[in-house]
Amino acid sequence: MQAGQMDKEVRVRFAPSPTGVLHLGGARTAIHNWLFARSKGGKFLLRIEDTDVARSNRATVSQIIDSLRWLGLNWDEKIVFQSERLDIYRKKAEELIEKGLAYRCFCDVKEIEEAKKDAKSYKYSGKCRNLTPEEVRRNLRNGKPYAVRIKIDPGKISWKDLIYGEIEVDTEELDDFIILRSNGMPTYHFAVVVDDIYMKITHVIRGEDHIPNTPKHIVLYKAFNQRVPKFAHLPLLLGVDGKRLSKRHGATGVDEYREMGFLPEAVFNYLAIIGTSISADNQILTAEELINRYNVKKVARKSAVFDVKKLEWMNKKHISKKSAEELYNVVVQIFQRYELLKAGEVRKDYILNIINLMKGRVVKLTDFAKWGKYFFLDPADYDSDALSKYWDDKTCEFLKVLKQALKELQKFDSGSIEGALRKTAERLGIKAAQLIHPFRIALTGLGVSPDIFEIASLLKKEAVLRRLDNIINFYS
Ligand code: GLU
Repeated sequence: MQAGQMDKEVRVRFAPSPTGVLHLGGARTAIHNWLFARSKGGKFLLRIEDTDVARSNRATVSQIIDSLRWLGLNWDEKIVFQSERLDIYRKKAEELIEKGLAYRCFCDVKEIEEAKKDAKSYKYSGKCRNLTPEEVRRNLRNGKPYAVRIKIDPGKISWKDLIYGEIEVDTEELDDFIILRSNGMPTYHFAVVVDDIYMKITHVIRGEDHIPNTPKHIVLYKAFNQRVPKFAHLPLLLGVDGKRLSKRHGATGVDEYREMGFLPEAVFNYLAIIGTSISADNQILTAEELINRYNVKKVARKSAVFDVKKLEWMNKKHISKKSAEELYNVVVQIFQRYELLKAGEVRKDYILNIINLMKGRVVKLTDFAKWGKYFFLDPADYDSDALSKYWDDKTCEFLKVLKQALKELQKFDSGSIEGALRKTAERLGIKAAQLIHPFRIALTGLGVSPDIFEIASLLKKEAVLRRLDNIINFYS
């Protein structure tokens, strides 16, 4: 790469505050950043904004990283932790004081808090902006605590948002905001800009809720005499009722979706396309296909609506597209979680066959266990709707005949089982359906299932005969 091209490289970051697990909105922001970077051959970086020591903890950081990895996101450089850069923020604040672009504010924090409470929209008076050097020295000598504030001059700040277009703000609306608190900690605005400069971020893609912060950030870029990155603010994620997505709408944590049996590919796919025109023709897309189609301009200016029904539909499609081998490990874990398989128990061929039978039907991965218990256990009860639909007083007698026919089979593959059942129906002078449905109820306890002859052959003769006996004894 030539020298001139170096600084043109796209560099974006996802910058979560580890005050809670990764939620859908955050994941969506991360996905857009990642797709943007990958579609431009750029870099995707991760920064943990953990300056709020009281509200951040390592366990949450690990959870966020875990969720990002689960979604298939990878980052190109070492993770930056803000908590490891506190000295740098202090130095950078000093630098701005020296340049006369920031100043020490000795105002009493409590007084300011009081004033904030009384005012509708509080703005700092600028009192300490005009302290004489002598007053400042005296305060410092007396060990008076101080915060550092940036000077905001009258004027307009504008940027061309890649999603929202031209946005202009009068600095009248801002005040000399704090960049370093009296406890030596940077404010969010300051740390973000210092780090985005340090990480050479070229595009800031983040939630629309950050739009009011952007003018402040631009002021800081200018104070540091740095090129302002491009901004793209993603519209909010709403629930189907049009309200901001929250717990009221159900699960909001990425880890909860994982737990519920969603495939990362489906969550990724859905969060990448909602509120965009990325997938006008085809909605089921792989990460690779999404990269190829990605353009931040395809993000609509209106809010994105998160509909779990749509995600379920997408999950079903993604599951059915996968091979049994690809699903094997995760399905084994689910069977173990539902205590259908013991830890360490290996029945690979059997499980692969189950997956192949079920993967076109399940909506969530957990359905393999919820709907497929009969692959491991004899039915403990029988679905009453199915019974009332398909069972009558002759059924037990019919099943006895079927049982005998199956018992005599040499080969117990699905074709032979089906042949035996149809022949039995003929002999009894009844429709095959009059045997097929009760046969299904006997084997699975359910009124619907994948191909019952395939199921019977997987279960093997002994279990099939036993289950027929069970239901015959129960209802005779
Ligand atoms: N840490 C901020 C948040 O979690 C994001 C900061 C940014 O993207 O500029 O909302």
